[in-house]
Amino acid sequence: MKSNIYNLTFTALENYFIEHGENHSKAASKAKIIYNYLYRNIPHGLSERITNLLERDFDCNFNFVEITEQRNSEDAVKFLFELKSGETPAAGGIASACNAAVEAVLMRHDYGNALCISTQVGCNMGCAFCQSSTQKKIRNLEPYEMVLQILKAQEANGEKISRLTLMGIGEPLDNYENVKDFIDIIGHKDGLSIAPRHITVSTCGLVPEMKRLLSEKIPCNLAVSLHAPNDEIRSRLMPVNQVYGINELLAAVREITAVKNKKTTLEYIMLDGVNDSDDCARELVSLLKGIYCYVNLIPYNETNLGFKRSSADRIKAFYSILIQGGIRAVVRREFGGEIKAACGQLRADVGANIVRP
Ligand code: SAH
Repeated sequence: MKSNIYNLTFTALENYFIEHGENHSKAASKAKIIYNYLYRNIPHGLSERITNLLERDFDCNFNFVEITEQRNSEDAVKFLFELKSGETPAAGGIASACNAAVEAVLMRHDYGNALCISTQVGCNMGCAFCQSSTQKKIRNLEPYEMVLQILKAQEANGEKISRLTLMGIGEPLDNYENVKDFIDIIGHKDGLSIAPRHITVSTCGLVPEMKRLLSEKIPCNLAVSLHAPNDEIRSRLMPVNQVYGINELLAAVREITAVKNKKTTLEYIMLDGVNDSDDCARELVSLLKGIYCYVNLIPYNETNLGFKRSSADRIKAFYSILIQGGIRAVVRREFGGEIKAACGQLRADVGANIVRP
C-alpha cells in the first residue's frame, strides 16, 4: 500500500529524492518546493517526470479526511471528520477502505487560533468520566490523518491555526511514533511551521513514553491528566493509575520539568462529590509542593456517564485553597459547551462510533 504524501517528514522527502538520484542540495530544494506546495499553497512548477514519480509512489490525496459535520459557536468550531483508511481500490477491484470518525475543535483565543485534534479512532484508556472511553480503540491515526485535520480545519473557515493541543479522542502517547512524526512534519519551517512550543501533548500518564519524549528531545509542552489527589480516587477514575501510580507519575513529572526547566500542566477535572472537596484540595497542595507545574482546573462537560460538574462556587473554593497553598492554578476557560466540544462527545452524539465497512 502506498503511503500518503502528508505522512512524509521533510527528511524522509529529501531521502526519497536522494534515492532517486538527486544530490543533497537538489533533494533539499525539491523537498522545500513540495512542502511549500502541500502546506502553503505555493504552486510547485515541478516537471512532469517528478510529479509522475510522486504520484506513482505516494497517495497524494488530500481528501482522505473529510469534514462530515461542523458546529459553530461564537468562540469555537467543532468538526467531525470521516477518515478513509487510505486503502484505495485497485483498478477494477473492490474498495477496501475502512471508514471511521474522529473530531477536532478550533478555539479562538485573542492570541490566535488553537486546534484540538484526535490521535486515535477510539481510546483504550478507559477513564470512567470520558466519553471517548466508551468507544474502544479501533486504530491509531497515521501522521497524515492528524496533519489533514489541521489543513481541513484551516480550509473550512479560512482561519490560520497557530497552536495545537493533542487532547481530542485518543491517547497520543499510545500512538508514539506517529505523533512524533506528526510534530516533526507540522513544525517544519517550509510547511505549517507550528513550533513545538505551541504544541501541547496531553497524556493520561503513560510514564515510559513521557520519559521517551524527554530522552528524544521532542520539545513540545506536556499536559498530564491527574484528576485526583491520591491513588485511591485516581485508580477509580483512571485504570492507567493501577499501572503507573501517582508517585511514579509525579517522579517523572519532576524529572521532566527539571531537565526542561519548564512547567508541566496538570489537568484536574472538577467532578461533583468525587474529587472536589476542601480535603482533596489540601491533599493536592501537599502532593504538588515543590513540583514546577500549574494546575488547570477543568469544569466537567457532562456526559451520560453518571458524573456531575462541580458548582462554580466549589471550583472557586478549591482554586483558592490551591493558590493559598502556593500552587499555581487556573480555571480553564470554557469553549463551545453547547456544541459538545468535550472529548468524544460529538462523535458519540451522531453515532459515528460505528465503523462502516
Ligand atoms: N488521552 C489524553 C488526551 C485526550 S483527553 C489524556 O488523557 O490527557 C484530553 C483531556 O480532556 C483530559 O484531561 C481528559 O481527562 C479530559 N476530558 C475527558 N472528558 C472530559 C469531559 N467530559 N469534560 C472535560 N474534560 C474531559
